[in-house]
Amino acid sequence: MLTLLRKIIESVIAAPNLHDAMHNLVVKTKESLNADCCSIYLAEPNEKRFRLVSSDGLSQDAVGKTVLQYGDGLVGYVGKKLEVINLADATSHPNFKYLPEVGEDCFHSFLGVPIVDQRQLLGVLVVQQKEPRKFNESDESFIVTLAAQLASKVAHAQMLNQMKLENSFSKPVKGIAASNGQCVARAFVWYPQLDMDHVAMVHTDDIYTQIELFRQAIFQVQLDLDTLMLRISQASPKNDSAEIFEIYSMMINDESFSERIIKAISEQKLMAVSAVKQICEEMIARLSDGDSKYMQDRTVDVKDVAQRLLSKLSHSQVQSYDLNTPIILVAEEVSASLLVEIPNKVLKGVVSLKGSVNSHAAIMARSLNIPAVMGVEIPLDVVDKKTIVLDGTKGEIIIEPDSAVRDEYEEIIRRNRHMQELVEKEFCKPVVSIDGQIVKIALNAGLNVDMKQNEKEFLDGVGLYRTEIPFLLQSSFPTEVEQQGFYSEFLNSFSRIPVCMRTLDVGGDKQLPYFRIDEINPALGWRGVRMTLDNQSILLSQYKAMLRASEGLENLNIMIPMVTSADEVRNARLLLDDAYNEVIDEIKGEGRTLRYPKFGVMIEVPSMLFILDEVAPMVDFFSIGTNDLTQYLLAVDRSNSKVSHLYNPYHPAVLKVLREISKKLEALDKKVDVCGELCGNVMGMIILLAFGYRIFSMNLSSIAKIKYIIRRIDIGRITRIVEDNDLKDVESLKKALSDYMDDIGLQRFINE
Ligand code: PEP
Ligand code: MG
Repeated sequence: MLTLLRKIIESVIAAPNLHDAMHNLVVKTKESLNADCCSIYLAEPNEKRFRLVSSDGLSQDAVGKTVLQYGDGLVGYVGKKLEVINLADATSHPNFKYLPEVGEDCFHSFLGVPIVDQRQLLGVLVVQQKEPRKFNESDESFIVTLAAQLASKVAHAQMLNQMKLENSFSKPVKGIAASNGQCVARAFVWYPQLDMDHVAMVHTDDIYTQIELFRQAIFQVQLDLDTLMLRISQASPKNDSAEIFEIYSMMINDESFSERIIKAISEQKLMAVSAVKQICEEMIARLSDGDSKYMQDRTVDVKDVAQRLLSKLSHSQVQSYDLNTPIILVAEEVSASLLVEIPNKVLKGVVSLKGSVNSHAAIMARSLNIPAVMGVEIPLDVVDKKTIVLDGTKGEIIIEPDSAVRDEYEEIIRRNRHMQELVEKEFCKPVVSIDGQIVKIALNAGLNVDMKQNEKEFLDGVGLYRTEIPFLLQSSFPTEVEQQGFYSEFLNSFSRIPVCMRTLDVGGDKQLPYFRIDEINPALGWRGVRMTLDNQSILLSQYKAMLRASEGLENLNIMIPMVTSADEVRNARLLLDDAYNEVIDEIKGEGRTLRYPKFGVMIEVPSMLFILDEVAPMVDFFSIGTNDLTQYLLAVDRSNSKVSHLYNPYHPAVLKVLREISKKLEALDKKVDVCGELCGNVMGMIILLAFGYRIFSMNLSSIAKIKYIIRRIDIGRITRIVEDNDLKDVESLKKALSDYMDDIGLQRFINE
């Protein structure tokens, strides 16, 4: 049964369109359940009716024509009840309705299941039988599974249809607000795998770069082939399937093959991807012309080699775009490395079909101050090169907006720019609230920051330097010396303020391209300090590289992510001692100095709340990562767009935990800051101030605004508003705070 189910699901997924998917499903389900009929009715919400759209068993004349009003007949009854209805004798049910045109006179039994996606009724899936038959539980679960599978296919197809029908696309497409701001520009769709058929003949003046990229691709493909051949021969020395890769290897090492491609690049000024396509297509055409079966079979080899080269070159596809024109990057899944590959000056916005507000690409977009929307459902091929209005604050995009909408957005962009200029004028003023309380504002970073040197001194530190970001941009693990290079550059560029470097936090949604961790449940898996303690050499070499980079400077602090237990803190600290002693041994007697860094841990896992007193003596400070703390408290994957509506840092449980941590750490007299995204948000920051937090670390794009606001608020007043609320009704708390902001003329910053 399971195999049958899997086969049906595969055929539904693989079907090129909804019509074929539904046809496959009804035919195969009828056969698998030994039923006499299987049909699908789809909802037409505007007309409040269902339409028979596919059937194996009912009259084909009725398909597409027969409709049932909502609530009518057994189909309407399933839709109304939104539950499985299983009847051995359907004709005696009060809702049974006889429809002469569909030819169901002969059916007695009825099993109907609602097709629902995101709580929306899309249709009903029905199985019928001539003889009275009570379908059993496994039949029920079989068709419930199929209905669920069909639901996403129907929802997707409806969305595409709607967009293609309304070719004006003027309606906003909703997604997740991942990085604030608005922009208007043309869409540039990026495909991770370049399909040879879709490669365009693009010309370039920079032929040297293209030749270099092609040479690198050859080298990388050769490496892949070597690895494959080795793996095959190790697994089974007699296995002759390695031969196929030897043929590929010979082909890419054949001088004339490379020379022809290089010639096409240099003489025709073609992009490397276009040249590979041209030459490989010529080879395929010649091979297919011959009579020999052997030669024709070789076309498959050429295609495969071409595909391998194209996929290595796919990143260089970015360069096939006119990079003087502003673009909105659109992709199935935007990765952090892709974001930094596109020059900052042209990258105006980001749209990712997958991902969520706290996925790594979203965090990168915020740190680069680029508006972003995640989790939208749009057909990539249709939006390519179209003009898009992207509203990262509302979390929506409009494809091919009409001129009025476009003008409206351009006005919003102008206004926001003006507001930013206003707050930035005060960037270098002290941050003291009107009731005289000092608040420290630090920076979250991961890339070198585009900031004026004198402004850096008006930061209270770099509160979070995510070391995984420079790691993400490498093609293999950086060596200790390489790491020392980028840490040193960073520490020196912020030499007058403390810099808190966090050790590698990979795993979960942060995957290094060269060190993939495949897990069923990655958010709860091998990430952060769990991974680096298991691979002590990684942690040790990070510590040593940071320490060496900090020599002669006084500004290095180190913290560890994803801590769950006191033992992890103890072990990470012991290792830091080892690293420190090793570096000190190297430099002793040379008059060189090395300060032992302040050592801290992140509070991201709820267990920390209960072990703060045990951990506190081992650390100099704590830093609260509200992004993960929310994820783990609410058991909501922060990068899964399907559950993003449940990811809520304002959930009473999250707020109560944040209040509790502040109290406990105050009693323990331990320094704490907040470095999660919540503190860069005006409402979040105000609530955190009321809980007693006074040190925040956030993206550069939020700093000027947050400083501007703190200077104008009365923290005592805010604290009283928050204290008056028992945190059960967070909406009323937000309303009260928003009213206060309105009173002091700062309301506009709340919704921004
Ligand atoms: C956090 O979890 O809040 C945090 C700051 O760390 P990251 O977003 O890098 O996981
Ligand atoms: Mg985190």
